[in-house]
Amino acid sequence: MSKAEPRSTNFIRHIIEKDLASGKHRSVHTRFSPEPNGYLHIGHAKSIFLNFGIAQDYQGQCNLRFDDTNPVKENIEYIESIKRDLQWLGCNWSGDIHYSSDYFDTLYEYALELIGKGLAYVDQLSPDEIREHRGTLTRPGQNSPYRDRSVEENRVLFAKMRNGEFAESCACLRAKIDMTSPFMVMRDPVLYRIRFAYHHQTGDTWCIYPMYDFTHCISDALEGITHSLCTLEFQENRQLYNWILDHITIDGHPQQYEFSRLNLEYAIMSKRKLNLLVTEKIVEGWDDPRMPTIAGLRRRGYTANSIYEFCQRIGVTKQDSNVEMAALEACIREDLNERAPRAMAVIDPVRIVIESLPAGHEQDILMRNHIKNPDMGTRLVAFSRDIFIDRSDFCEEAKEQYKRLVLGKEVRLRNSYVIKAERVRKDTHGTITTIFCRHDPDTLNKDPSNKRKVKGVIHWVSATRSIFAEFRLYNRLFIAVNPSIESNVFSMLNPDSLIIRRGFVEAGLESAKAGEPFQFEREGYFCADSRYFTPAYPVFNRIVGLRDTFLAKVRM
Ligand code: ATP
Ligand code: MG
Repeated sequence: MSKAEPRSTNFIRHIIEKDLASGKHRSVHTRFSPEPNGYLHIGHAKSIFLNFGIAQDYQGQCNLRFDDTNPVKENIEYIESIKRDLQWLGCNWSGDIHYSSDYFDTLYEYALELIGKGLAYVDQLSPDEIREHRGTLTRPGQNSPYRDRSVEENRVLFAKMRNGEFAESCACLRAKIDMTSPFMVMRDPVLYRIRFAYHHQTGDTWCIYPMYDFTHCISDALEGITHSLCTLEFQENRQLYNWILDHITIDGHPQQYEFSRLNLEYAIMSKRKLNLLVTEKIVEGWDDPRMPTIAGLRRRGYTANSIYEFCQRIGVTKQDSNVEMAALEACIREDLNERAPRAMAVIDPVRIVIESLPAGHEQDILMRNHIKNPDMGTRLVAFSRDIFIDRSDFCEEAKEQYKRLVLGKEVRLRNSYVIKAERVRKDTHGTITTIFCRHDPDTLNKDPSNKRKVKGVIHWVSATRSIFAEFRLYNRLFIAVNPSIESNVFSMLNPDSLIIRRGFVEAGLESAKAGEPFQFEREGYFCADSRYFTPAYPVFNRIVGLRDTFLAKVRM
């Protein structure tokens, strides 16, 4: 994480500053507690930079705790990916990694304490009956017929649950709170349920697993967390968080504070739905460059810095919002504009023959790697009689505004000569196969002699000394601004979210390293794809275009 001073404060930082100033806490201790049931996404990054950022800025600590109470949905691959992503984001957790499952014995003891106090009971209603008894926002709930069992009976039945003597869904442990509470979460919430499932950390030791609400507050208290930060959907659960800590014998009482989730336009953020994209093979995997996951963004070519910068800009509030994708793209563009060396690539090639040059002519042209940063050095780029330009940079006839190559007119080849198009050759379908041109030999990196103005500049690569490359052009995965609210998110998929083109890049780029970014002049920022790129078959991901062209495109 950047060591720079935070530029933006927020209501949570205000609370922390107040607590430190008043002596309520001597130091601050936060935690990031993902459930290992999927890969981290950009929404998690908001929570990560908030929690780790606070620990860093107030000389406190931030734990990493895997919230692993649902073995059916969790696995080691997710745990490993989360650790990898956190390290890549530059966030170092304090001490050892924690797991909620580390506390299964302790949690069981606390459940017994609640039973002993007459505050928890074993219910044998079916899940459907429990739901019916719960009532609604306008109708109070009803007590379960099992609610008034004796302490001793509850102890015996809970032990039986633990020993595997009940089938799944035939018994659960519930807190005895208030079936008429205006807070639905307080209507005798389930604390433990039966799952005959192998757990990635505890194996087959347990067949009862504690619920999130019971586990989270106790884990926070056991770890000495001072401020437990979560998203707004847990606002009501705060009642239960406090109730549990108030009714068991435990030191410390962390405070829960809620902030709004990050939602990104044209993206989904729910791990369940992201998982469906993977299992239905709509994308290549969790690290598909179109996914809003940290692994996907990394493979796409986003830097940790740009994600940090984005999270700084969006801030932390209680206001629900849908952030424009353009805001994220602006961050990576600004980062790469400074750092990415320039190079030339032709994505949709058409051949040019410069007939005024002798057959077989080749020459090396010295180019700067970054116009504004001489420290990035220079390179020699091969120029030749046959070159490729992009098909969209030529028109047989065009209006005055068209600043590229037109029959009978001149254009400058970037860092090279001024050429004039004289005639074209077409195939039987009428597609142009070759454009024949003449060059002005006196224009290599200087203006034409007779003061004539040549406004257009286009990029090119040598046809004889460039190398073949595949370009993967990514667009939004969804066509709906807010796909999550659609009844069938998969009907909102963008058929053009991945477009593959085959063209040419300057020689030398076959030795690019995975993830290494370049600005391909006039095309955008690209990087070598970590999965498919090989020197023999270079594959480049388009990270982002040079400017935000999306609006212009959808209006077309
Ligand atoms: P999902 O709905 O994607 O499954 P989750 O909240 O269940 O997300 P967790 O693994 O429990 O995922 O999340 C770990 C932490 O990250 C939690 O504190 C959660 O509030 C936070 N978080 C998850 N999604 C977002 C988001 N979109 N914006 C901000 N914080 C988020
Ligand atoms: Mg969750």
